[in-house]
Amino acid sequence: MKRITVAKGDGIGPEIMNATLLILEKAGADIEIDEIEIGEKVYLAGNSSGIAAKDWDTIRGNKIFLKAPITTPQGGGYKSLNVSTRKFLGLYSNVRPCVSLHPFVKTKHPIMDLVIIRENEEDLYAGIEHQQTDEVVQCLKLISRPGCEKIIRYAFEYARQQNRKKVSCFTKDNIMKQTDGLFHKVFNEIAAEYTDIENEHWIVDIGAARLADTPEMFDVIVMPNLYGDILSDVAAQITGSVGLAGSANIGEECSMFEAIHGSAPLIAGQNIANPSGLIHGAVMMLNHIGQTAVAEKIMNAWLKTLEDGLHTFDIYTEGLSKQKIGTKEFAEAVISNLGEKPNLFKAVEYSNNTALQLPKYKRKEAAAKELVGVDLFVHWRGENPNELATIVQKIESNNARLTMITNRGIKVWPNGFEETFCTDHWRCRFTTENNEAIDNKDIIELLSKSVDENIDIVKTENLYKFNGQIAFSLGQGQ
Ligand code: NAD
Repeated sequence: MKRITVAKGDGIGPEIMNATLLILEKAGADIEIDEIEIGEKVYLAGNSSGIAAKDWDTIRGNKIFLKAPITTPQGGGYKSLNVSTRKFLGLYSNVRPCVSLHPFVKTKHPIMDLVIIRENEEDLYAGIEHQQTDEVVQCLKLISRPGCEKIIRYAFEYARQQNRKKVSCFTKDNIMKQTDGLFHKVFNEIAAEYTDIENEHWIVDIGAARLADTPEMFDVIVMPNLYGDILSDVAAQITGSVGLAGSANIGEECSMFEAIHGSAPLIAGQNIANPSGLIHGAVMMLNHIGQTAVAEKIMNAWLKTLEDGLHTFDIYTEGLSKQKIGTKEFAEAVISNLGEKPNLFKAVEYSNNTALQLPKYKRKEAAAKELVGVDLFVHWRGENPNELATIVQKIESNNARLTMITNRGIKVWPNGFEETFCTDHWRCRFTTENNEAIDNKDIIELLSKSVDENIDIVKTENLYKFNGQIAFSLGQGQ
């Protein structure tokens, strides 16, 4: 008997969770349930994290969490519980299978069977945002080597376990050479260890276009957080409905299983939502806890129900479907098919689908790190970069000369273009002529002088070489 935590969530959450739990019970899942309350009610009662402190203990104690979608109220400093659960519990891997159900569910892509493995803890979802000037706000994009290694290794191990042939990686490393560049580099390193699996890399824009147009060319796709979030919705939707796909959020200790869609408030309470996404989440959970036979039984009954043409409104198509049915009736139909196999779809076989055991991340030896300069970000309301250069040159020292000014990343001094539009947010780069080592004291001196000169520094960013290699981006146009 496995004890799990269940939250019924908001909107369509309770309807699809009740349907799913009934199917689990009738299929003989060997689970015991601790139910907790999360989401809108908890937020509106004044808890900005959407969950009571004691309920974290339940989730951490049971380690397995089956969660219905929740509504995050807009504004008011409410923090997304989905993001914080993934990060607090270290659920680094988000696995989202997207499969076409042709000819029973209408889709433009009859041969589509892919899995998106989305990095789940970092990237722009670190939620570190600041307003720095009247005109400019920023969001920090954090990508770490452990984050990349863990998710990419997970993708290759998953592909091997599931007998999949290829792992594709999507990044935008032609622009983000440090962050997405690291993801791509680690992908190449790890891919080299898996000679039995084909690998390829796509720039995310054309990769996304091919995914939406020719999804049959992909098998497993591994992506940083934001691209994975967006493209897994696209992939689920083009199989027929966003209501079909489930998602497993896997960590080293705990795991959370859910549908990929949200709480769909407009269709809540009408018994019309498709419970399939959450059912798939629950099937992934059963596999994860080793109850593969029950998972198989549910999935085969579900495939048979779709073949029988019993469809919820989101996938109902005149001529293709036999009957439009509600959430409860769909669950009852799946239950009546338990023990049966689909006729046309291939029956699933899950005996090999248990939780993956991955090696723990091992921290590498520290590189030789050398401070070679600093970027000072200045709030300045003037328009002519040459004027700003004259002002900030007053704080120069021998070890820290002004070598470049950029505005939103594009070089505007020296030799900028008059046409370049400038905001009130300027990056002034101070280095020696040949990027030689400087000292922290040089930076302190710059800052101290800038106070005397009334220069409004809103942020500093140190410039380093790691193992002798420049480890910061140049100005665009530099
Ligand atoms: P949504 O996924 O709830 O709905 C998008 C569209 O898909 C709507 O037209 C909806 O009716 C339809 N849809 C979604 N699930 C369906 C289902 N099971 N059956 C049939 N149709 C379905 O996205 P949204 O409208 O952008 O977000 C609504 C709320 O959900 C927001 O508060 C958002 O923050 C939250 N949300 C929660 C989660 C989560 O808890 N994991 C994920 C995404 C969004």
